[in-house]
Amino acid sequence: MNPLTSSDTSTPLASARHQLREAIDHLGYDEGTYSILANARRELTVSVPLRRDDGSIETLTGYRVQHNLSRGPAKGGIRYSPMVELDEVRALAMWMTWKCALLRVPYGGAKGGIALDPRQYSVGELERITRRYTSEIAHFIGPDRDIPAPDVGTDEMTMAWMMDTFSVNAGHTVLGVVTGKPLGLGGSRGRASATSHGIGHVSLAALDHVGVARTGATGAVQGFGKVGRGAAVFLADAGVRVVAVSDQYGAIFNSNGLNIAALEQHVDREGTVVGFGESDPMDADALLLLDVTVLVPAAVEGVLTKANAGDVRARAIVEGANGPTTPEADKLLADNGVLVVPDIFANAGGVIVSYFEWIQSSQSYWWSEADVEEKLKERMLHTWEQLRDRAEADGRTLRATATAIAVERVADAHRLRGLYP
Ligand code: GLU
Repeated sequence: MNPLTSSDTSTPLASARHQLREAIDHLGYDEGTYSILANARRELTVSVPLRRDDGSIETLTGYRVQHNLSRGPAKGGIRYSPMVELDEVRALAMWMTWKCALLRVPYGGAKGGIALDPRQYSVGELERITRRYTSEIAHFIGPDRDIPAPDVGTDEMTMAWMMDTFSVNAGHTVLGVVTGKPLGLGGSRGRASATSHGIGHVSLAALDHVGVARTGATGAVQGFGKVGRGAAVFLADAGVRVVAVSDQYGAIFNSNGLNIAALEQHVDREGTVVGFGESDPMDADALLLLDVTVLVPAAVEGVLTKANAGDVRARAIVEGANGPTTPEADKLLADNGVLVVPDIFANAGGVIVSYFEWIQSSQSYWWSEADVEEKLKERMLHTWEQLRDRAEADGRTLRATATAIAVERVADAHRLRGLYP
């Protein structure tokens, strides 16, 4: 089967290429443009040998894929998960290209990761894994080349280890090599909550769009990690009744709205939403089908498929995760009038504030939290207006429109630069 022409969309890469194909056809671009954008510019696979705490040696596999470099250095997170494999990283890198182009963040897209379950390793082991992985990809990354950031299974500690390893080898401190760093080490105010706050702003805009007042609205959030938790807090603070949340251990429900502040304390204590007193347990898959105003899938890709999308009753879906909806599901949701606010827009708050962090690092001048929050909100809502208006004018979905705008900008950069040699 030719992966460039296949209509199979059951994997993230197939979904990503399907979305690209639709945009290329809509824009009337040629096959050559499709083939440039369907493939990553550079891909690196590395072995990461680890000395475990018991003295044994285990060798892990890591990746870094730079999908596009035409608008600036590559940018994107590093994922630690057992699901990580090259095709998944390729898809995630492509989505980063579109995300940066859509939000006018001057980067191309990249993604990296190591296939491992971080819960199976001690902090010391994770540090050794991260430092060795960073050394292996060191010639590939840098503030002007490719700038990693946190993603699923990594955090600001991971970024501090990456920054330190890169800097020690360079012989001087290189703050701009990664973003999502701790505040005390060149991080930006507002970066940790940026993805969640972006989702929050977009969710409120989506509620306005479907004509539901926020105080009359209900919400469900799949995933209570770095992204979903902050989104639940934001929505609850804005007056939305968040009736259900889930994590990898299970889901909970309260029709009157969960007390999110009390739930946060429970999660900090127990490590899961399961068992939270003021709620009933519910089936985690059923959360996606609840009759709520806004559903935020904020876990992993491929959770809304042709098997369940026809049963979704939410008025709007705001994609916190990357790639949660397959193309078949997208079609079912559109047919049923469910508004889908796509990942490459909805969860872009993270990379927007990463960009702010990179600017601050290069100028050694640090912005106030209020400045960061205001600039984040302004960029998200400005893009929302453009996206909504063009989707309405073209009579196409928000995802198709967002991908087309992004592909247009990236293709434009290629055209202006010309093809070398
Ligand atoms: N991993 C995040 C994403 O998927 C953030 C990437 C970044 O800040 O570079 O958008």
